[in-house]
Amino acid sequence: MSEKFKAILITRDEEKRQSVAIAELAETELMEGDVTVRVEATTVNYKDGLAITGKAPVVRRFPMVPGVDFAGTVTVSSHPDWKAGDKVILNGWGVGEVHYGAYAGKARVKGDWLVPLPAGLSARDAMAVGTAGYTAMLCVMALERHGISPARGPVIVTGAAGGVGSVAIAILSRLGYTVIASTGRPAEADYLKDLGVTEIVAREELAAPGKPLGKERWAGGVDTVGSHTLANVLSMTSYGGAVAACGLAGGMDLPTTVAPFILRGVSLVGIDSVMAPKELRLEAWRRVATDLDRGKLEALTRAIGFDDIIEAAKDIVEGKIRGRIVVEM
Ligand code: NDP
Repeated sequence: MSEKFKAILITRDEEKRQSVAIAELAETELMEGDVTVRVEATTVNYKDGLAITGKAPVVRRFPMVPGVDFAGTVTVSSHPDWKAGDKVILNGWGVGEVHYGAYAGKARVKGDWLVPLPAGLSARDAMAVGTAGYTAMLCVMALERHGISPARGPVIVTGAAGGVGSVAIAILSRLGYTVIASTGRPAEADYLKDLGVTEIVAREELAAPGKPLGKERWAGGVDTVGSHTLANVLSMTSYGGAVAACGLAGGMDLPTTVAPFILRGVSLVGIDSVMAPKELRLEAWRRVATDLDRGKLEALTRAIGFDDIIEAAKDIVEGKIRGRIVVEM
């Protein structure tokens, strides 16, 4: 029971300066919860990068074990839904922010936060998907709810070479959509085409202030960037289209006008993965298992070790990571 395991720990000194190190924890030091899980795989999301570098106030309790995503096996449970041996996934719910998270050999959480590992997915697959991929699925589901079928026209994905972007492209192309990618990394053109992109728009084209309404270029969008990029995506969305907004890689502001909404009936759909209700999560993970090509998932994923997490966290906030990262414990 008191066996120690490795964990990443973020601490803060009296001057509120944050530091991060690899430490050892015992199960008795974990926070309250009714299910204990042996973490078998995790990942590094943009948010984990913000948490570890301290670039944004993601962590709101110190010390903290960061990591918003894990997949593993239940070792102890007093929750009616779970028993020892069950394979589970956790995404969000404030884990890695206010509750000890994924970057540790074990995690103790509320059973209500867990979803079962879908049949056919390994812990590694689930973390190659991770919050980024499950959010991409939530975005695609939102477009579908707004009637954006492949027949309506192309869909643009911004921040295309990132985690959410890459998985969104793989899913959309598998579902038969024509996918346009916006990227700041022209060198990744072949990578994006292999994932299913047919046209690439340079990041600069959408990052500068634009007009309230532009030429109608796409029926829908998955936006991970925010700011002028999202404003331009909206202004070029065709009549009755919809854009799912999930990210702020380019900024938190949204300098738009009401023109796309009141003159073209465009919908802006907000996507949150952290507090998303369980039913929606179960549906998203079920869809991930069926609608994400496993070969493409492998192609967009790179594996690293536990000791590489801190470096990868720095890289992701600098926009240096392509696709998804998986960490096998
Ligand atoms: P990544 O870092 O993997 O991808 C972000 C991508 O955005 C980069 O790869 C880059 O794509 C692009 N980008 C980076 N900086 C800028 C910039 N200054 N201007 C324009 N584009 C930029 O992150 P994730 O895919 O994991 O996350 C993407 C966003 O979605 C983040 O803001 C994250 O916080 C958010 N998110 C939100 C969730 C929610 O619940 N709402 C859940 C998960 C993520 P390229 O090189 O192709 O240009």
